[in-house]
Amino acid sequence: MTGSPTARAAAQFSAAPLAILGAEPRFEENLHIGRPNVGDRDHFLRLVNEMFDRRWLTNVGPLSLELEKRVADYVGVEHCVAMCNGTIALEIAVRAAGLSGEVIVPAYTFVATAHALQWQQITPVFCDMDPRTHQIDPAKVEELITPRTTGIIGVHVWGHPCNIEALTEIAERRGLKLMFDAAHAFGCSHKGRMIGGFGLAEVFSFHATKFFNTFEGGAVTTNDAEFAKRLRLMRNFGFSGLDEVAHAGTNGKMSEVCAAMGLCGLESLDSVIEVNRRNYHLFREGLGDLPGVSVFEYDEAESNNFQYIVIEIDPERCPLNRDELVGVYHAERVLARKYFWPGVHRMEPYKSFFPQAGLLLGETERVAARVMLLPTGTQLDPGGVATLCDIARQAIQHAGEVRTALQRMLPDLQKSSEASATPPTDADAERS
Ligand SMILES: *Cc1c(COP(=O)(O)O)cnc(C)c1O
Repeated sequence: MTGSPTARAAAQFSAAPLAILGAEPRFEENLHIGRPNVGDRDHFLRLVNEMFDRRWLTNVGPLSLELEKRVADYVGVEHCVAMCNGTIALEIAVRAAGLSGEVIVPAYTFVATAHALQWQQITPVFCDMDPRTHQIDPAKVEELITPRTTGIIGVHVWGHPCNIEALTEIAERRGLKLMFDAAHAFGCSHKGRMIGGFGLAEVFSFHATKFFNTFEGGAVTTNDAEFAKRLRLMRNFGFSGLDEVAHAGTNGKMSEVCAAMGLCGLESLDSVIEVNRRNYHLFREGLGDLPGVSVFEYDEAESNNFQYIVIEIDPERCPLNRDELVGVYHAERVLARKYFWPGVHRMEPYKSFFPQAGLLLGETERVAARVMLLPTGTQLDPGGVATLCDIARQAIQHAGEVRTALQRMLPDLQKSSEASATPPTDADAERS
């Protein structure tokens, strides 16, 4: 079907320059969440050329060792173990910590937090959140502990630290292991201390869509030397010598080309954060006065990477709901995303295992229905941010017309959102 004559007719009576009302989309190309930040290409190519000269492509080469050292210094820990991606890093950390039975995790996270447990037959037990911070609620963690519970994995959602003190107190008192999925939190601090050194270990993702990337990659950071040693063995099939295998293991090594990307990315880390910070402030100014629209607030007394622009829509106060605003943005070629919709407990296999889980996850369900992410990063200049804010403003001002147009276009929009329904971390232009 080409065009929608009724929508175009409506547009003739509307002053709003909105694609949903028949105007041209504001962006010529799709604008993605998590479009990769790329550092200095010449620096990268120089490192890769040196790598070819050495003929050392992987197996803990000099570039990955250098990256480990630089990351450990940056986050202020004794040990950094670089891995091929964040999910394998989580799996290996879980294994090296000896977790089994049940492990408590938030339901409001990327699905990999739960999969890393389920993949090794450990049951993720989903905990509700504090709706103010979007972080796992320690008071509710305590209620979920059973004789089978062996650990807690906190997630620093959006790079905002979860309640580290309360979780640490519970873990110590109940004899549980505590780790953190810090996939969002590279470059973030808690009470002046960088994320990376809390709990037994913390796990980073350096995936292409995270603000700092090594194409694919990740790392486990820890101050426990024994634990780090176990991670290194498990990362490399358990090899402790040329012909000696001391442990069960897998292959979690980071390749040299990935480490080269990381070394370049570290050079531009501060400038990327600066762009993210600028965009974040422009979004807060540009959206702050819209009714029922709030922008998730970072604590600026701490270090932040500002990599996510998290918008929460209060359906009681905003004339359009979250799904309608996502529809408006998609029509403008802005691939705003519902995060972490619908919650991990509503994804397979967890949905079948625990069909009633939602009953214990009231806040998660409520927040997951209200949150959407907007693009940011080096792809977006101040003019781009202003356009993104103006789209929401126009849509809210013309909410009645917008709703009518959306209802008319519902089948089309559903099709386009299905087409872009890749996992949240895979939403970059390069893959979809
Ligand atoms: C991205 C992400 C992961 C997975 O990391 P990969 O490097 O993509 O495997 C795990 N947990 C969270 C919270 C994430 O956002």
